[in-house]
Amino acid sequence: MMPGPGRSGLILEEPLLWEKGKEGRTAFSMPEQDVPECSGEVDRELLGNGPDFPDLSEMDIVRHYTRLSTWNFGIDTGMYPLGSCTMKYNPKINEKMAATPGIAASHPLLADELSQGALQVMFELQTFLATLTGMDAVSLQPAAGAQGEMAGMLVFASYFRKKGEKRNKILIPDTAHGTNPASAALCGFKPVQVKSGADGILDPKIVAELMDEETVGIMLTNPNTLGLFEESIREITAIVHGKGGLVYGDGANMNAVMGLVDFKRCGIDIMHLNLHKTFSTPHGGGGPGAGPVCVVEELEPFLPVPRIVKGRDSYHLEVDCPDSIGRLHAFFGNFGVLVRAYSYILSMGAENLKKASQLAVLNANYVRESLRDVLHLAYDKPCMHECVFSDKKQQEHKISTLDMAKRLIDHGYHPPTIYFPLVVPGAIMIEPTETENKDDLDQFITVFKDVAREAREDGERLRQSPMHSKVRRLDETLAARSPCLTG
Ligand SMILES: *Cc1c(COP(=O)(O)O)cnc(C)c1O
Repeated sequence: MMPGPGRSGLILEEPLLWEKGKEGRTAFSMPEQDVPECSGEVDRELLGNGPDFPDLSEMDIVRHYTRLSTWNFGIDTGMYPLGSCTMKYNPKINEKMAATPGIAASHPLLADELSQGALQVMFELQTFLATLTGMDAVSLQPAAGAQGEMAGMLVFASYFRKKGEKRNKILIPDTAHGTNPASAALCGFKPVQVKSGADGILDPKIVAELMDEETVGIMLTNPNTLGLFEESIREITAIVHGKGGLVYGDGANMNAVMGLVDFKRCGIDIMHLNLHKTFSTPHGGGGPGAGPVCVVEELEPFLPVPRIVKGRDSYHLEVDCPDSIGRLHAFFGNFGVLVRAYSYILSMGAENLKKASQLAVLNANYVRESLRDVLHLAYDKPCMHECVFSDKKQQEHKISTLDMAKRLIDHGYHPPTIYFPLVVPGAIMIEPTETENKDDLDQFITVFKDVAREAREDGERLRQSPMHSKVRRLDETLAARSPCLTG
């Protein structure tokens, strides 16, 4: 047996509730009726027959959902090395804080005077995030990273409109997350791709060639999606500012740089953070999230409304901001996510946040060094929070990244991110995060080395994998073209 946590065995089958139900079963007992039966006419047609729900006992229901939950994989089940996602362990104290009755039941329609606690939490969270990034002002409004990007692009558009400048292009590196060009295009800008250099980072000379007075600026990610720090960041931002442009920083990879990088000093004008990645909200499966934007003073008037304003001894929400890009959604988005981030930051403290980032970087470099003999390293230099390999060494055995990723499932690991970023053919992107200890990392490394050995010696086994999972290898094209939605 392999050293990983993977096991076959008790994977229980479970039919749909409709297939499981038996007429007459019930999950509750009503007390005996002690009032006379209604003698009036009941309009049957008006009532209808009700939905056709299956009849189930309490145990039927409990087992059904408990079994389904065992088919799911999450960070509480095991290591989840999905690059570009920061799938780290989220301490349960932060869940508990978000579930505190006064917080969980607070209502967004209550008057400001009755929501002082909630407003204070949000105001202080903004202050923490400003301190962590080095920026001047923060809006917690965006509900996801991509919405933060869109807010940023709307801010850019408003800024140039106010200055009376017509600019319609935006520079975006070829390593960017797909949401970057999408957000820019949504706001009417034409994305212009910037090729990253042979060392995986941006070359200021190329940025200088592309930057002109019709370009609003650049959208860059630091550390970038190859897990590499953009070392020429200050030179690049100076070039963009020199042509009157602005710099958007995609801060989704903040887990690598908390307390380590001052983004304002790097020349960033606006950036978003993914609270659901770095600041302790469980994610994956589509949300909820929060993507606050942090800006320099000059861009503060454009931030979305409502803004939280601190008066002499109370807080209030301000919507009367003439230059604002307006509302992004109703109320304050996913408030519970903001509470988790607040609780996470307070429980960690400044020193430990910095340490978390340092450990995230250390862990990624440990994995990188430990696997470099068996996997091809896309860029052979120290990384930040994630490292990118490829299947180049396995190609001679006709084994692909997909085969290795599927085989990891047999050994109890969620596969890393694969085939992203696009600039690395056959990419395998591993982000271990700071929350895995050395024993767990060593176990993962041993398993991956064994998968690489199998690739050399027993390729057929890899091509057949996964063999011990609930379902075998799926035909992903067929699944997309003819989805079967009935189970
Ligand atoms: C995750 C991610 C995003 C998008 O964030 P969402 O909250 O999923 O919208 C943007 N950029 C980078 C680099 C990311 O990793």
